[in-house]
Amino acid sequence: MPELPEVENTARDLKPLLVGRHVQAVQILWPRLVHGKAPEAFAVELTGRQIVNTDRRGKFLLFPLDNRRIWIVHLRMTGQLHLVPTQTEIDRHVHALLELDNGQQLRYRDARKFGRFYLVDEAEELLAKLGPEPLSAAFTPLELFSRLQGRRPAIKTLLLDQRVLAGLGNIYADEALFAAGIDPRRPASTLTQADCNRLHMAIRQTLATAIREGGSSLGGSALTNYRRPIGVQGRFQQRHQVYRRTGQPCPRCGAPIERITLAQRSTHFCPTCQRYEPLGVGSS
Ligand SMILES: [Zn+2]
Repeated sequence: MPELPEVENTARDLKPLLVGRHVQAVQILWPRLVHGKAPEAFAVELTGRQIVNTDRRGKFLLFPLDNRRIWIVHLRMTGQLHLVPTQTEIDRHVHALLELDNGQQLRYRDARKFGRFYLVDEAEELLAKLGPEPLSAAFTPLELFSRLQGRRPAIKTLLLDQRVLAGLGNIYADEALFAAGIDPRRPASTLTQADCNRLHMAIRQTLATAIREGGSSLGGSALTNYRRPIGVQGRFQQRHQVYRRTGQPCPRCGAPIERITLAQRSTHFCPTCQRYEPLGVGSS
């Protein structure tokens, strides 16, 4: 969290609010937020620049600037960007302030402090290793199949690997695997082309619906919960079929949803709808 749908909503919400605005001043209150350079240098380089677009690649937010450099933000666990009037009180989780030319401040809040800022000449410096965008034309069922060929890790583990596919995290990997009826523990190399066709469609539909619903807002407190830059929460958590529904009935068959740990991540699935029986086992 946040994953592709939440980052996409953040980029979309910020577009009409930020594009064309000039940055008049920058304050970094948590020095380690800035990757690869001194926070003072980052502040100097961003000051005076105009933000010309807002975009997303994987889970990265991209803000191209008028000097052709790109400010990139990774929200990681609990990062949030909000636009507020300058006089709004600054709470202890605000780690960066960007003063804009319209009396507003873009504020970065992050309770867990895992998020990072980057300022680069070319986005590829940071993004070259990312796999395809799941909603792009380049991501086809055949592309998915070929990326899983010969890969022994569990399919869920590979779906979380940003080099295989960009943008999926724990929520949408679990939801997509349920929608496709695929056991998250199954070795990726055992997926057939037909399995990949179903999984490809499930990934696209899950993400598209989640984007439309404003992403998922989950988590302990208002502090760590995902909120859109315009202050509202996502609604897709109301449509989760398996994620954090441990013990509740599967919406398809009624069996209790199970929770296991896979590659150190909690994993939710239906043991009936997502049953995998390797050839020669359990069949006659
Ligand atoms: Zn089921």
